[in-house]
Amino acid sequence: MRVVPLTGGGRIGRSLTYFVPEHLRDKLKIGSVVAVEVRRSIRIGVVIGFEELDESDKSTPFKIKEVLAVYTDEELLSEAGVAIARWIGSYYFCSLRDALSPFSPEIRVLQATTILVAPDQDKFSRTLSSLGLLFASADAISMETRADGSVRISKKELIEALRSGTMSEKKADETILKWIDTGILTAEIGIRTRIRQLGQDSYMSITKQAMESDWTKLRSDRQRQVLKLLKETGGTLSREEIAREVSRGQPALRALVKKGFLEEIIDESLLLKGEPPEPELKLIDAQIDAVETVTQAMESGKPATFLLFGVTGSGKTEVYMEVCRRALSMGKSATVLVPEIALTYQTVRRFMKAFPGRIALLHSELTERERLHEWRLARRGQRDIVIGARSALFVPMPDRGVIIVDEESETAYKQQQRPRYHAREVARRMAKSEGSVLLLGSATPSIETFHAAKQGTYKLLRLPHRVVGGALPEVKLVRPDISQVPGSPRTETIEVDGRKMPVGLMSPLLRDEMERTLQMEKQVLLFLNMRGFARSLICSGCGMVPMCPMCAVSLTFHRSSRSQLCHHCGHREPAPVSCVRCGNHDLKFLGWGTERLEAEVRTVFPNAKMLRMDRDTVTSRGKRRTIVEAVRKREVDILLGTQMIAKGLDFPSVRLVGVISADQSLYLPDFRAAERTFQLMTQVIGRAGRSDDIEQKGGGLAIIQTYDPENRILIAACSQDYESFYENEIVLRQRFGYPPSLHIARTVISGADKDDVEEVSFRLGRALDKTKPDPTSSMLGPASAPLERLEGRWRYHCLLKASRVSTLAKWLAGARRNIRVPGGVRLDIDIDPMSMM
Ligand code: ADP
Ligand code: ZN
Repeated sequence: MRVVPLTGGGRIGRSLTYFVPEHLRDKLKIGSVVAVEVRRSIRIGVVIGFEELDESDKSTPFKIKEVLAVYTDEELLSEAGVAIARWIGSYYFCSLRDALSPFSPEIRVLQATTILVAPDQDKFSRTLSSLGLLFASADAISMETRADGSVRISKKELIEALRSGTMSEKKADETILKWIDTGILTAEIGIRTRIRQLGQDSYMSITKQAMESDWTKLRSDRQRQVLKLLKETGGTLSREEIAREVSRGQPALRALVKKGFLEEIIDESLLLKGEPPEPELKLIDAQIDAVETVTQAMESGKPATFLLFGVTGSGKTEVYMEVCRRALSMGKSATVLVPEIALTYQTVRRFMKAFPGRIALLHSELTERERLHEWRLARRGQRDIVIGARSALFVPMPDRGVIIVDEESETAYKQQQRPRYHAREVARRMAKSEGSVLLLGSATPSIETFHAAKQGTYKLLRLPHRVVGGALPEVKLVRPDISQVPGSPRTETIEVDGRKMPVGLMSPLLRDEMERTLQMEKQVLLFLNMRGFARSLICSGCGMVPMCPMCAVSLTFHRSSRSQLCHHCGHREPAPVSCVRCGNHDLKFLGWGTERLEAEVRTVFPNAKMLRMDRDTVTSRGKRRTIVEAVRKREVDILLGTQMIAKGLDFPSVRLVGVISADQSLYLPDFRAAERTFQLMTQVIGRAGRSDDIEQKGGGLAIIQTYDPENRILIAACSQDYESFYENEIVLRQRFGYPPSLHIARTVISGADKDDVEEVSFRLGRALDKTKPDPTSSMLGPASAPLERLEGRWRYHCLLKASRVSTLAKWLAGARRNIRVPGGVRLDIDIDPMSMM
């Protein structure tokens, strides 16, 4: 039998061979979780296959060991799951151990344990009474009779019982060992879970009683702090979030629960309990068509992939929800993937409200315990829909009818560590093997997906119009004309460290329209994809720019914390007051970020209520909730921020969207730069004018500042003309040999020593050159990666292209055999990479 160990360290990615002892024979199948010995320690592993072993065969150099135990409480991994893992391993060129890891959060918390068994219960009881143990304490030992008549005994309770008979702990241990020696007890290996109690007391919610009473009179500081925090952040937070803000607050929480001021909430969906239900919508024809087509495919039980293609606001989410309703009414379950909960908070919320108590929510912000809790509920069939980021795909859902992948083109679906899988591709594989339907949705599909839809591999479903708000917003491309109009009264300045700087991020047109929007009592969104105050500092004397000591990138200046921060590795240091190279005190700002924009907006519109939303202001789930709620309730006039405001949010009162600089993402050294820019711009523009009310007042408006207003990508984005963008882009992809016309593999060699890294990467390059499989395949590099240094490691990369992934795999395997990668140097292989940095 072959087993892949999943727990324990070391680099055992291979499967190992074990014998199956007679008594376990019919308990084992592919996917079974077992305890096995590996290098003298006991590990938990997964059975991936059986093979006939000849016990008398002397050719095996080492003794084959027996499987020690099998976990029979529940099925944690199915044979189908193992098959998918095998596919991941071969497609993404990683070990089976890596490939199994997304399937196994429940398996990784298992551990081997010793269990005591009394083969003969009477004899054991007699032994206990001969010790003169009081009947009561002997009775406290739970004994579980097993099929063969033996009884399983809790070691902990046995020790307690012995000790209550005045035995020392040491003596109790010795006694048990003696009994094992004499056969009164036998010790077996068992498997138990380390985390049994799950998701308990995860959230604390402020009660009505607390809201109505005057808790500011409470004597305890901490209790007041906790209540104040909860009140300010929407009423509910997890214990962890509270702990982050109020130190040593646990006793305060207990006291407040006792007073009835707080209650514990286990299920996040309960948070929405008090809210009015969403109105039932009557689907429009295009939505009905889509739902019916998908439903028919679900009923047929045959796998199929659909692409739901419709601009933002065209009603895709409503289609997803209706498809889920249909699945549930057929007694099936559903998986809904969203790119990142942080970016799709509102979508998730709509699901939670539409399916109260039936949703398991899995995302990266949960603690391990919470994740396991949700995972388990879904696997056991106590939840019908699992919603989450890419990892939610791996929750084994019984009888799944549909897998929905919202915003399928988002890069978040690609895992950036091993296994470097793409959730959309794995979902396709799963849907195929289980006979379920895969529904992809996007306003701006990836080029690969749209190509497949055009080819007929996926079935294309269109939602051609916005449901509400009618027309898409009008879009204007303008130069960020920061030079002030002569004689204009606009010469406001902001102050940084006592120095005055002119306001200049908003063009005159943008400012006028902001003003108009505020007068109309509508909202403004301002988008700038850079947090911090300035991209970096620069010395006006010698041109020195402070760099991250670990990465080849400049440090971003954050004014609020007076520090500079590496946005790649998180390195933080105090901002310098003078140049470290020449000592000059005149440090200038290079580029700009959301902090600066915030300062300018406050100066120009001092009376507007404004919030900033980026990773510096959104530090917890509670914070995001507060911001989103405030905007929805129109307590905010201007919301500015990064990606976080670009995606997924649905604010009906936003009339104007402003993009401070569209040029940032256009020129990244990545063949997807155009696609990303198009997506980002259409998404941002799509935030404006999402209600009939605004439609009647002249519609939404987006103002995009760029130095290249003739840019074809931006022009296509303005009219949300995905198809013309696609037609252009697919020609380029084909001409230059990029996906979907060819598959790519990227190898990254990295390490602390630059010479080593360079040496290995050139050896790898030569090996790859020699093993090149056919004339249609090609190689770029080796060359230093665009991020030449990251987290202290130097990086070189190669791009391999071939028409099939299997060709790439063979090619890589051939080269891999021929080179040795020394310690300290790492080779990472990324199939269908989403990042070229
Ligand atoms: P998308 O997911 O394509 O951005 P949504 O499903 O979020 O679109 O729909 C956009 C807005 O239109 C939402 O506010 C939604 O409630 C509303 N909406 C969707 N379908 C309908 C419908 N059939 N009738 C009325 N309103 C709808
Ligand atoms: Zn860094």
